[in-house]
Amino acid sequence: MPALTLKPDREKSLIRLHPWVFSGAIEKVEGDPAPGAIVDVKTSDGVLIGRGGYSPTSQIIARMWSFDPDETIDGDFLRRRLQMAVDLRTANPSVPDKTCRLVNAESDGLPGLIVDRYGDFIVCQFLSCSVDVRKAELVEILQEITQCAGVYERSDVKVREKEDLPLVAGNLAGDEPPEFITVDEGQRRYEVDVRRGHKTGFYLDQRVNRERLSDYSSGADVLNCFSYTGGFAVSALAGGAKSVTNIDTSGDCLAIGERNVALNGFDPAVVENIDGDVFEVLRRFRDSRRTFDIIVLDPPRFAESKARLQQACRGYKDINLLACKLLRPGGLLMTYSCSGHVAPDLFQKIVSDGALDANRFGQILERQYQPADHPVALNFPEGQYLKGLICRIC
Ligand code: SAH
Repeated sequence: MPALTLKPDREKSLIRLHPWVFSGAIEKVEGDPAPGAIVDVKTSDGVLIGRGGYSPTSQIIARMWSFDPDETIDGDFLRRRLQMAVDLRTANPSVPDKTCRLVNAESDGLPGLIVDRYGDFIVCQFLSCSVDVRKAELVEILQEITQCAGVYERSDVKVREKEDLPLVAGNLAGDEPPEFITVDEGQRRYEVDVRRGHKTGFYLDQRVNRERLSDYSSGADVLNCFSYTGGFAVSALAGGAKSVTNIDTSGDCLAIGERNVALNGFDPAVVENIDGDVFEVLRRFRDSRRTFDIIVLDPPRFAESKARLQQACRGYKDINLLACKLLRPGGLLMTYSCSGHVAPDLFQKIVSDGALDANRFGQILERQYQPADHPVALNFPEGQYLKGLICRIC
């Protein structure tokens, strides 16, 4: 078996079961492993720590599959891990049966593999060499375990470039998904476009947080910034919102949002859709003194890398400051960051600075994270990316 030997001063994180092996931590590579091959990972004095998948072009040169030196990474192993991931969701009553994340990569012991379920269809992303070379096997097992109608691939994600893998999308097995898959999320229904939608089609990670908006929105004028296909909008209407204003730069997403409002039986007349840049529209509303009872800020990932952290913080501060200005006294700010590089403490500080500069007093009522079908392995804190604050702004 090919093997990677670690440098003596770079073993600590792996001994603590962190699944990433960085290229800078490697003393020597033996056996000329191919991309995606399983490699033994050893301490500097030759003790076997476990086995990982090899990604020669990435800074993360291997991702650990197992820390048990006696475990073989074969078909049975993949089946056990996939079954464990699926069982975790099935056993949890807070996770909808047919609309959820089934596999959350490293945090489910399947590094680089994302599997989302949308009704009868499964949508996958293969984000590391070692899951990419096992694609056919993984798909076959997934079909068996889930009895799905079809498996679709959305590996058209930029991170694949780091692994020297092409950006690809398309049907992998079974039936082609329809243009829109209608999924149930609690009492709500949404249309999901798995071919053109973001990620695998929908922001499943905001399910619980969206739901919470319903509890606050009775009689409220709600501003839903970065609205995508209207997940928060539908939740606000379900809770009895008086009006919802969606802002997004994508007309296509706003159009699906309109379909979702209709699908749930709400009056489209109370929904305004603005095809525009949140940064500009918030300034326009400030200048025209338009105000709201609730503002949702759910932007895309501003900090895609550590290098962009400062710029990202300025972006978060800007929208949070503007939102505080637009809220009526006692209004609610539901604000999120899905940048893994922005830690919860830092995010709270940014929101706090925003409120301060807007000259408003704020109180945190609730802290939110990603839901149970997006677990975070204790040995993999990087898996925690979504954080949100529900604040009352006086
Ligand atoms: N809240 C949504 C997910 C938001 S994803 C949900 O629960 O489903 C982020 C959205 O922000 C995307 O739809 C993207 O089109 C939009 N977006 C990105 N930059 C933007 C900008 N500057 N102004 C407005 N919308 C933007």
